[in-house]
Formats: sequence, C-alpha cells, structure tokens
Amino acid sequence: MRLEKIIIFILACSVFQQCSYSQQTPSKIVIKDTMDDKKTNNPVYSNTDTSSVKLSEEEWKKILPANVYQIAREKGTERPWTSPLETLTAKGTYYCAVCGNALFLSDTKFESGCGWPSFYQPVSKTSIIYTPDNSHGMKRVEVQCGRCESHLGHVFEDGPPPTGLRYCINGVVLDFKKAQEIEKNFKKDKDNKSSGKEQ
Ligand SMILES: [Zn+2]
Repeated sequence: MRLEKIIIFILACSVFQQCSYSQQTPSKIVIKDTMDDKKTNNPVYSNTDTSSVKLSEEEWKKILPANVYQIAREKGTERPWTSPLETLTAKGTYYCAVCGNALFLSDTKFESGCGWPSFYQPVSKTSIIYTPDNSHGMKRVEVQCGRCESHLGHVFEDGPPPTGLRYCINGVVLDFKKAQEIEKNFKKDKDNKSSGKEQ
C-alpha cells in the first residue's frame, strides 16, 4: 500500500515537472525578412534604384498584395497593435513595401505606445514626401514614399529628441531587412558572453 503511494507520488512529480518544463520553454517569435514575399510579381521593387516610380492605380492593383494596396494607394490605416514590426527591435533597415525604397533605420525606431511602428527620423531628406492632410476633421501631415508616393502614415511633433518628430507608419507598407553583419557580430558576442556567465 505504501509502495503504491510512493509510485503515485513519483508519477505525479514527473507529470508536474513536464508541465512546468513546457511552460518554461520560451515561445519564439521569428520575424524573418519580409521582402521576398512582397516583391514577387513587382517589377518596380528595388532596394538600390532611387528613380521615381509612376504607375496607374490599375497597375498598382495588379502587382501589390490587397492589404498593401489598400493602405499604400487608398490611404488606408491598419488597425493599431496589429503589425509584428511595431515591437520589433532587431537591427536593420525598413524599406517601402511597394517599391523597395529605404525609409527608416532601426536606430531611429522607438516605442511610442501608439500601436504603429514609430521612428523619429527618415533615412534621408528625399526618402519621404510631406503633404498636409486635413481629412477626418484633423490637421495632420501625411508622409508618403519619396520614390513611389505611396501613403505610409503621418508625422507628428510629439516625438523624442533629437528631432522631436514621431513618424507613425503602417507596418503593412514596410519591409524589414536585418542588418546581417551586425546580427552576426551580435550573436558572436552573445555566445562569448553566455559561455562565461548568465546574462
Ligand atoms: Zn515606395
């Protein structure tokens, strides 16, 4: 009788351990480079060509995924907190998902709490076009891609230093590409450290 109790106890312990082990296993959210998925079928997509792109809305509709078209060409807004890029902190460059133009560097990204990927500065002065937007009874400044004039989001004057600006951008129209070299060095550095002590 006593032996049975001990066996049940041991079994219960091992089940509990398995449960707590599975709970401790971190669920990894893998964000891979999104560019390859979006640029298929898109002949104007380029990360190096900076010449301006002008296509008819009909042509854009043919080559862009529906969700990208709706935001970029119909000035839509994605629901807040829906973009996996909103909380992404990896090092790299954010490109226009419509034409591949470089827009923002991860170094200028910050957590604004507004629910959309936020940056305080574009890659260059020509990477963005600014247009007054008085729709929906608000006075805002719309930001568009400097190469293809797609709608990206808005810029507000409540951002952090050094610019004091907050570029509030729809994640759907952004393509993120990891800085491979930085990533590799970071990993090497991390491996060296973890062989020494727990971080
Ligand atoms: Zn563009």
